[in-house]
Amino acid sequence: HTPPSVKGRLAPSPTGAQHPGNARTYLIAHWSMIRQSAPMVLRIEDIDSPRVKPWAIQQAIDDLRWLGIDWDEGPDVGGPNGPYIQTQRTDRYDQAIAKLRSLGRVYPCTCTRRDIESAASAPHAEFGHMIYPGLCSDWTEGDPIPPEGTYCWRFRVRDQVVDFDDAVAGSQSLNPSRDLGDVPVTRKTGEAAYQLAVILDDDAMGVTEVVRGDDLIDSTFWQIDLADALGLSVPSYAHVPLVIGNDGRRLAKRHGDTRLDHLRRCGVDPQDVILWAARSLGIGDLPEPGAWETSRLHRHIAAQMDWTTVNRDRVVVPSKWTRLG
Ligand code: GLU
Ligand code: ZN
Repeated sequence: HTPPSVKGRLAPSPTGAQHPGNARTYLIAHWSMIRQSAPMVLRIEDIDSPRVKPWAIQQAIDDLRWLGIDWDEGPDVGGPNGPYIQTQRTDRYDQAIAKLRSLGRVYPCTCTRRDIESAASAPHAEFGHMIYPGLCSDWTEGDPIPPEGTYCWRFRVRDQVVDFDDAVAGSQSLNPSRDLGDVPVTRKTGEAAYQLAVILDDDAMGVTEVVRGDDLIDSTFWQIDLADALGLSVPSYAHVPLVIGNDGRRLAKRHGDTRLDHLRRCGVDPQDVILWAARSLGIGDLPEPGAWETSRLHRHIAAQMDWTTVNRDRVVVPSKWTRLG
C-alpha cells in the first residue's frame, strides 16, 4: 500500500483584489509543496456569484505569477482533473446534492436571515455566530418541495464530535450539531455553496493538503462532516493566521491601499513580499532582496520551512506598504 501522493492547492476567490494576507497564505502553500516535491493545483472559486468580479480572476493569476508561484494544474494550464473553475463544475455539485437527498442528509430551507435571527436564541457563546434553529428540519423526502428560488438545500450535521489535527492551529474538536448547526449546501438560486464545492473539488482533484486562512477553521468541521456523508477523502489542514494592520485590526481600506496589484503598480519588489512572509515564519537565513533569482529564493525558504515555525499569532503588514501613493 503506497501512501496517497501529496498535492496542494491555491484557491483564490475572485470577489475582489488579493492582499498581503492572501499572498502569505499562497506562499506558505507553495513552500510546503516545494519541500515535498509535490504538485500544486490552481482553482478559481467563482461560485459566489453576486460578489464575483470578472476582472479579479486574471488579476489573481497575475498576482501569483508576480510572486513567482507556479502550479501544475489549473485554469490556464489544464490538467486531468479539470475544469478548475468552479462555475464549470456545477454538474458534479448537482450530483452530490442528489446523493445527499437520497441519504436523507439535506432538506429544503426557506428561512430568511430574519427568520433565523428571530428564532435563534443567541449567538453561540464561543463562536459568536447564530446556530440554525432547525425551523425547516422536519422535512423528509416525499414532502412537497417549495417553489424554485425560494429555498436552499440545508445539510443535517451530525450530533457527534468531529476532530482534526491542524498543522498550525493544533488539535481542533467540536460537535457540529451543538456548536455550528445545519448549513446550506446550495444558495436559493440553486448554485452550490462554498462548503460543498470545496470538499468535492479537493477530493476530485486529489488535493491532500489545504493551507488557508484561519477564518475558515469553523467551516472545516462542516466540510469534514460532508466528506464523511459523501464518502470523500479529507485532506490535511493548515490554517494560517490573518494579516492585520499596525493598529491590530483586520486589514481594511483605512490601512491604505495594500492590494497586491497596487503594490505591483507602485514598483514594490515581489521579493520584498516573499522575504516578509519568510521572516514572519521565523526564517532568519535570508539573502538581500534581488540578490538571487526568485525560484532559488523560494527553494531556499522552503528548505527551512517547518509547520512548527508558523506562528499562531496574527502578522502585521509592513507600514511601508500602507503608505504607498
Ligand atoms: N476561496 C477561499 C478564499 O479565497 C478559500 C477557500 C479554501 O481555501 O477552502 O478565501
Ligand atoms: Zn429554514
